[in-house]
Amino acid sequence: MSILYVVATPIGNLEDITERAKRILSEVDLIAAEDTRHTAKLLAHLNIRTSLTAYHDHNESRASRSLIDMIKNGKDVALVSDAGTPLIADPGYRLVKLAREEGVKVVPVPGPSALIAALCVAGLPSDKFTYYGFLPAKSKALEDFLTAQKNETGTLVFYESPHRLVKTIEMFERVFGGDRTLVVARELTKKFEQVSFATIGETRQRIEAGEITVKGEFVLLLQGQQKIEPNWDERELLTVLLSELPISKAAEIASRLTGGAKKTLYKLAVSIKKGD
Ligand code: SAM
Repeated sequence: MSILYVVATPIGNLEDITERAKRILSEVDLIAAEDTRHTAKLLAHLNIRTSLTAYHDHNESRASRSLIDMIKNGKDVALVSDAGTPLIADPGYRLVKLAREEGVKVVPVPGPSALIAALCVAGLPSDKFTYYGFLPAKSKALEDFLTAQKNETGTLVFYESPHRLVKTIEMFERVFGGDRTLVVARELTKKFEQVSFATIGETRQRIEAGEITVKGEFVLLLQGQQKIEPNWDERELLTVLLSELPISKAAEIASRLTGGAKKTLYKLAVSIKKGD
């Protein structure tokens, strides 16, 4: 049975291609590439003459079908993206899913990925992290999305483009406050590689001062929540407190725990007592 190889390529530094990736790319019958012109340059550099075909967001369904048919007919195919690991914020998921569904063997040829390169130099906890890819573009959607991650305790990893970087960091400050550590990993493995480790507030100042250049490719890594902020259900909390305490004491304690107004909680406690 022929094979679909999922091959990682460099994220900037051509020396990061693996020996195995070179061999597989030269041995397969066809390379499915996100951008054939881009990959042609890599192949020229590696002196590899394998044929290329386009596989990108706009032809994923159709191309997946024909690539899987080719593999079933005895051709080995390698999937690559413009940079790093295919499927990681890049096309490939449909192809691999179809391969799995149809019993086609899929083999990884691991190598560079910006998220792992960034995580391993960030200095943030790496035992538990969540990779979110690119963030929503619109402010409201971005704020809602980040607010929903407020209690995440592991490191949060995002891909970001230079033209949205400042807005995103401002939103981090609005949603998470200025004190969490934010690592900005820029142009990894390239000539102008830069990794900034500072609080969110200091990072914003570094950008304003021109110490972090807002150009190139970025991974943002945000420290997770250190202390869980409980998401109190006020009615449930008051019900428990009222089983032991008078109304005003229950309202006072609920107010201290939730940060809610004592008057409002008192009214809610009265209604619970009445059985409303
Ligand atoms: N498949 C790639 C991978 O494995 O990392 C990611 C592709 S995604 C379309 C491109 C994004 O990855 C960039 O916008 C940037 O956020 C991040 N990225 C890629 N190369 C990078 C680099 N050398 N330094 C920092 N971030 C990079």
